[in-house]
Amino acid sequence: GYNQAVRENKHLYNMIQELRGNIRVFCRIRPAFNMEAKSSIDYTGKDGSLIVVDPTNPQSTRKSFHFNKIFGPDASQDEVYKDTQPLIRSVMDGYNVCIFAYGQTGSGKTHTMCGPSSGLSKNVGVNYMALSDLFQISSAREGINTLEIKNCSANGGLNVPDASMRSVQSVDDVLTLMKLGEKNRIFCSTAMNNRSSRSHSVLTVHILGEDMTRCKIRSCLHLVDLAGSERVDKSEVTGDRLKEAQHINKSLSCLGDVITALAQKNSHIPYRNSKLTQLLQNSLGGRAKVLMFAHVSPEADSYGETLSTLKFAQRVSTVELGAAHLNKESSEVLELKEEIESLKKALSRKE
Ligand code: ADP
Ligand code: MG
Repeated sequence: GYNQAVRENKHLYNMIQELRGNIRVFCRIRPAFNMEAKSSIDYTGKDGSLIVVDPTNPQSTRKSFHFNKIFGPDASQDEVYKDTQPLIRSVMDGYNVCIFAYGQTGSGKTHTMCGPSSGLSKNVGVNYMALSDLFQISSAREGINTLEIKNCSANGGLNVPDASMRSVQSVDDVLTLMKLGEKNRIFCSTAMNNRSSRSHSVLTVHILGEDMTRCKIRSCLHLVDLAGSERVDKSEVTGDRLKEAQHINKSLSCLGDVITALAQKNSHIPYRNSKLTQLLQNSLGGRAKVLMFAHVSPEADSYGETLSTLKFAQRVSTVELGAAHLNKESSEVLELKEEIESLKKALSRKE
């Protein structure tokens, strides 16, 4: 009866979601630091939209935005993860997934991805919960499942990311790796926030394994905490720090160019212009599932940055990806492929 119809509809809805494959955008508004201060965001949490108000002209300039999901200042880490979890789980089915956090410094990117401080705490972020989920699923399955973690930080965008790849057996292994990555990350105080970091942090998980039907799976998950998106002049940095900041801003503006080109369905997408876009090329241009967390600060003095983050996020949400590809194959197909390869090699040796 009714329940059956709801179930079928839901199934259909999920299928459409898979096929549609736009970049998903979740917006998260962090709590105000000063409760008395004026806010630049009007958010009731009722209808999935938020309104940005110009604090100098509250009546005339109001812009409204819609996203796949909006998390208000009261949303917990668990609530945020609950909506992220299906995407994470699909990695174990063979989908490539990329999640990246965007927003100005101090808007809550690291809070969402890592939690209030790296390491174990009550408010762990997406990274930790995702990894524990993956381990849980893999240990519940039979067959060999190897999770390989690559943790790299682009040092101020100046150097080639120095990535290390390790096999891991448990969430604790991952935590140790993440702490190491965090230590290697260059932190630098700016006028905006002393926890600010002028670097991107990328955690990549490669999954090699088998599913219930003994099909081979080879998928990957990128978890990216981007550097602050604010314009450089605001950070009041000078000298080497300014150079670093400009480099980072360049990689973010390259990301913007890629998003614009994708949104306009251009034939040429300029992935090659930065390390960041090269890294994300497989996700943005390939057949992955992609989620962006757009982070905003509610304070009136963040109005300009909030508006530009939301405009960027809106553009990102119009980007259509190819239908997500399942990276799995039956052992028969794999064997045949290997045979073809070895025959090809044999042939080329003869020529
Ligand atoms: P970013 O990484 O974007 O620079 P952070 O994640 O470091 O920003 O957040 C800045 C500050 O605000 C931190 O002290 C962080 O703990 C706090 N914060 C951010 N988001 C939230 C939230 N949703 N709830 C509570 N505190 C938050
Ligand atoms: Mg941060």
